[in-house]
Amino acid sequence: MKRAIKKVAVLGSGIMGSRIACHFANIGVEVLLLDLTPETADKALETAVKSKPSPLYTSAALRLIRTGGFEDDLPAIASADWILEAVVENLEVKRELLEKVAGYRAAGSLVTSNTSGIPLHLLAEGMPEDLQANFCGSHFFNPPRYLPLLEVIPAPRTSPEAVDFLLDYGDRYLGKTTVLCKDTPAFIANRVGVYSISQLFHYVAEKGLSVEEVDKYTGPVLGRPKSATFRTADVVGLDTLARVARGLYEHCPEDEERELFRLPAFVEKMLANNRLGAKTGEGFYKKV
Ligand code: NAD
Repeated sequence: MKRAIKKVAVLGSGIMGSRIACHFANIGVEVLLLDLTPETADKALETAVKSKPSPLYTSAALRLIRTGGFEDDLPAIASADWILEAVVENLEVKRELLEKVAGYRAAGSLVTSNTSGIPLHLLAEGMPEDLQANFCGSHFFNPPRYLPLLEVIPAPRTSPEAVDFLLDYGDRYLGKTTVLCKDTPAFIANRVGVYSISQLFHYVAEKGLSVEEVDKYTGPVLGRPKSATFRTADVVGLDTLARVARGLYEHCPEDEERELFRLPAFVEKMLANNRLGAKTGEGFYKKV
């Protein structure tokens, strides 16, 4: 089978979905961007497009993106060559949506998840055969227009052809450096990244370091002026980060560093107060 990607359906229009949609539109691919309601998708896309740095190469690319809601528009994924799931980092929510996807997708279409760390085998469990063969992890990094890494994570029954296709397509058309990962908790980059952020959360809690101090020494001096620890956490979204950390705690029972993935009280308090970073306007920094 020779694949061609003319149309992509992105399911979930949050921080990642809206920007991944823009990234595909930038290379001339038609995009259907769906969320819980059409209004959610419209608003998210509008916010993404206004954000700086812009996820779009040109304003013309925006005309390739059509928005909609899951309830009315999910059947339209039948015309998509690639369905990319990017809803909230929650196993049950993703599984429920993927089950619906199975009912509408065209046979042979590629289906991927942008999960940050949920084991792919848990998402793939019980899927129909054709879907299992065409299902894979495709983990973009934030912001997808600018960060070059794309992790490709096969599920147990993903066909080698689908994996090779994704690796090639990511390199060749999406401008990414693709890395093939094993289906281990949080894969490669987040296994390391969330470990280091969690470690620093605890330093702040236990040693009284300030957010600014940590960012000073984990940012500019390391050549990362805009992506120091807490700046990154605000861009990612503290809720998503917390879900990945909790996932690592749950899925790494043998890890001797496991306790690190328990969030300190000050982070739990921020979550309770909806201080989630850019998505709520305030996080570790007052102005995100
Ligand atoms: P987000 O919170 O910005 O958006 C999540 C979207 O899911 C929202 O638009 C919301 O309306 C939708 N949603 C919520 N509940 C739902 C439900 N019950 N059914 C269907 N949709 C629902 O999240 P995000 O940061 O865009 O993350 C999306 C995925 O990408 C997650 O799996 C996350 O782990 C992963 N990811 C995030 C980042 C990051 O930096 N934020 C980076 C890489 C991967």
